[in-house]
Order: sequence, then structure tokens, then C-alpha cells
Amino acid sequence: MTEAENGWSAVIDHDRCIGSGLCVTYAAGTFEQNEDARAVLRTPSTDSLDEIRAAVEACPTGAIALTVHERNGSDET
Ligand code: SF4
Repeated sequence: MTEAENGWSAVIDHDRCIGSGLCVTYAAGTFEQNEDARAVLRTPSTDSLDEIRAAVEACPTGAIALTVHERNGSDET
């Protein structure tokens, strides 16, 4: 499990990650692959939230859980 805070947080489920690298393709400023090809978060992220959302949606196994922290205190997933 990995997490970063930047108005959002993301957790990567390494049991579901198959190392496709699609998240890196869509948001290379946020995701990279470790020596086992599993995705890990880069901190600080240099991608826009739209790029991160695209990466999350591209993941073939739904391994990335993204939570956006709204300013009013409620969270959107
Ligand atoms: S897109 Fe999903 S399965 Fe592919 S490397 Fe990223 S987290 Fe893993």
C-alpha cells in the first residue's frame, strides 16, 4: 500500500497490480514501476488531477484507489 497527499490520496493494491505500466503511460509524474514491475507512487506528484484520473481509469485491474479530498471536508472517490 502506498499513499500520497496532494489534495488527493491514492492507494495501489499490489495484489491486483499486474505490472501493465498503463498508469505510468498516463501519469508518469505520479506513478513508476518498482523492480517487480508493480506500480508505486512518486512523491511529490507532478501530474494534474485529470491525468491521475485517466491513469486510474486505464488500470486494467482496478488496482488504484483514488480519493479526492474536497475543500468542504467531504471526500469523493
Ligand atoms: S495500470 Fe494498474 S496494473 Fe498496470 S502497473 Fe498501474 S497499477 Fe499496476
